[in-house]
Amino acid sequence: MTRTKTCRGGGTADALASGASGLNAREGSNPSPGTISPANEVSLLRLHEKTLHELLALLENREIQVSEIIADLYAAIIEKDQTVNAYLSLAHKEDLIKQAQANAHLPLRGIPATIKDNISTIGFKTTCASKFLEKFEPVFDATVIKRLRAAGATILGKTNLDEFAMGSSTENSGFFTTRNPRDPERVPGGSSGGSAAAVAANEAIFALGSDTGGSIRQPAALCGVVGLKPTYGRVSRFGLVAFASSLDQIGPLTKDVHDCALVLNLIDGHDAHDSTSVNQSALDYSKDLNLGVNRLKLGLPKEYVKALRGEALRCVETWVKTFKDMGVETLDVSLPHTDYAIPVYYILASSEASANLARFDGVRYSQRASDENVETMFSESRDKGFGAEVKRRIMIGTYALSSGYYDAYYTKAQKVRGLIKQDFDRAFQQVDAIIGPTSPTPAFKIGEKSDDPIAMYLSDVYTVPINLAGIPSISIPGGIVDGLPFGLQIIGDQFQESKILRVAYAYEQASN
Ligand code: GLN
Repeated sequence: MTRTKTCRGGGTADALASGASGLNAREGSNPSPGTISPANEVSLLRLHEKTLHELLALLENREIQVSEIIADLYAAIIEKDQTVNAYLSLAHKEDLIKQAQANAHLPLRGIPATIKDNISTIGFKTTCASKFLEKFEPVFDATVIKRLRAAGATILGKTNLDEFAMGSSTENSGFFTTRNPRDPERVPGGSSGGSAAAVAANEAIFALGSDTGGSIRQPAALCGVVGLKPTYGRVSRFGLVAFASSLDQIGPLTKDVHDCALVLNLIDGHDAHDSTSVNQSALDYSKDLNLGVNRLKLGLPKEYVKALRGEALRCVETWVKTFKDMGVETLDVSLPHTDYAIPVYYILASSEASANLARFDGVRYSQRASDENVETMFSESRDKGFGAEVKRRIMIGTYALSSGYYDAYYTKAQKVRGLIKQDFDRAFQQVDAIIGPTSPTPAFKIGEKSDDPIAMYLSDVYTVPINLAGIPSISIPGGIVDGLPFGLQIIGDQFQESKILRVAYAYEQASN
């Protein structure tokens, strides 16, 4: 069974050097001069830089072995993760190789997956990057993990996030901040910042994240990778530690659109353990990637571009031109309730969070801070266990749900949520998909917004409406702004994942 490293406040570098995992950072990063270790030979092949579909083809043709991919990934992690800090825990390398070799007959052939640390995974801690769950070892696999394993994937490690997935930068992690591999002075986005950074730094072949208000797409955009939030109900949430249950979805973070389709193929489908999972037969999302976009209609919401300037605006012009050249008709559309999405989201998500996080009380899942009496045990455990942002959300949510305020805040927010959904319904009567930026800016500097929650919340303006409407959306690399990746978001109507993947694939091919 896979063993995991203990994550400590000192960061992944400490954890790597601790040797608990059998992965010795110092040996790995300083091979004795003049010798070429097997790991070095493998890393010349740069297998860790390849996509999932490329590796599958190489394995199928017996040109490489899965152990070489794993050796190469560990070499990359040793080299880069001391700076990037993407991983909270890693599998034991030799164990992983054994498991992967035993999976040679299965479709994924042992290729390792990287998982956000709020998804329950046997053999690893599931900490949600919270001190409260620092020692929590789950006793079951989330449905997505079961499905990955059944397809022959192995689990490489668990990645950093904003505590309980609340944040947009990973600065709210209870352990350490992940750095953006494109510029280590900047955030990778969040909350799935560890997963996005691992994929961008080629410390992972592919990763899973979760998205409640943008947490897959925004870090994908800021790190220059692909991230997809499926339609609500498309992917089982069983085993995802709940933040806001009416908004949460698990989805892929990958190096390209083809991989994104392949990973979605593995994790989607009905699950009896999640009552909100939709009873639809699983699809092959990679099947239609090549169909092209000729004669499709794409909408550009004026509310999503009105604040853009300079290079960001030029990216939008490039998107429109590239799609026009492929035979797409682009139309201006309007999503008039966009400005209400942030307040509505922060009322509803916080309300749901305040209920979901009530279970962490020092008794059942989390660490107990005091045994003095029951009341002190609850309050001290929660006071010591939760970080500042999580407490802020619990307080906002408890307030919004309290008697006397419930109708003014919670009920009203639910009504406006309905209007936001109607905006999209109207737009999709005119167009096949909607395009726009994923995030208003590229990656910001570490510390730049951490003292200003409202500024941080505003980085989600273009992503939260999609979660409120329950529809699917993908972020792909859409150009460069200030020398950093800028994401193109493609939004579809419910269950139109195949269509947005097709549009994304066409853009990716054209922009390459
Ligand atoms: N950044 C948003 C928040 O802080 C979204 C987080 C998420 O999608 N998990 O709530």
